[in-house]
Amino acid sequence: MKQTLSVGALSALPGKKAQGLVPVPGTGFEIPVTIINGADDGPVVGIVSGLHGSEYTCIETTIRLGDELTPEKVKGAVVIVHPANVTGFFKRLEYVVPEDGKNLNRVFPGDPKGTMSEKLAYFLTEEVIRKSTAFIDLHGGDIHEDLQNYALYAANGSDEVTRISKGAAECTGLRLICASAQQGHSMYEAAANGAPGVLIEMGGKGLWNDEEVEQFCAKIRNVLKYFGALPGEAQKYACVFVENKTSFAAKHTGCWYPCIKPAQIVKKGQKIGEVRDLFGNLLSEYFAEKDGDVIFVLSALSVKEGAGIALTADI
Ligand SMILES: [Zn+2]
Repeated sequence: MKQTLSVGALSALPGKKAQGLVPVPGTGFEIPVTIINGADDGPVVGIVSGLHGSEYTCIETTIRLGDELTPEKVKGAVVIVHPANVTGFFKRLEYVVPEDGKNLNRVFPGDPKGTMSEKLAYFLTEEVIRKSTAFIDLHGGDIHEDLQNYALYAANGSDEVTRISKGAAECTGLRLICASAQQGHSMYEAAANGAPGVLIEMGGKGLWNDEEVEQFCAKIRNVLKYFGALPGEAQKYACVFVENKTSFAAKHTGCWYPCIKPAQIVKKGQKIGEVRDLFGNLLSEYFAEKDGDVIFVLSALSVKEGAGIALTADI
């Protein structure tokens, strides 16, 4: 774009790329940011990975895209945070920011006077989300989640924002697409601010591999074309849209034994798994409440009462 673009202390002049660790005010820590500022005006696309620090496929995807994208290729600008939850990444934690134990993707728009997660969310809201005209949030199954790759689109904005968000989700090439309007999510904040958004989930179980990262990069390039930040025609793919999801929580602390897999279609009444104690005695059984398309299944053996054991898309 024809003006300098900044994220906190990091600035990129028109036609330039800037990379660096950016201090988050009041937290004492820094997050890695890449700004690719094209020479001409166009969309400003914010891309954030690793709000959950152990979703490795998306984090490696953004590291590669930050390296690959140049101002010569980009129209407008692309801003990449990779990853947002740096301390959670290095501690290999599920879901939370270690300093306060909060789920960063539940506390947007954040609070400059709040806890570590809230300060970080506030910084991302002010410096990335509010400066973006389109937003991509990257996730995957967490360290304990066996997940079906799928996408969500922002459904809380204006009709026009929702239409564009849905179109972006169709460009991911993923079969299952769910609506999302959950307050506290980064994408909710973006859509409320007028920026269409898509959230893509790929990989899981604390694993990553080259093949899946390359597939993820290709999906993001296609979505960037759709938003007009990269040249060329974006391709749209056939997919299944779902409005609602059903989550299942453990009724006991113990060992979890699933009998379903991601992307499996389950029928109402079908058993999805059971929890047993440390001596193998049955504590509780779980059954599908309606027909569903399995999004994620807890892959860990251990489970605590109240923790998520499965998530299905209502079909
Ligand atoms: Zn996540």
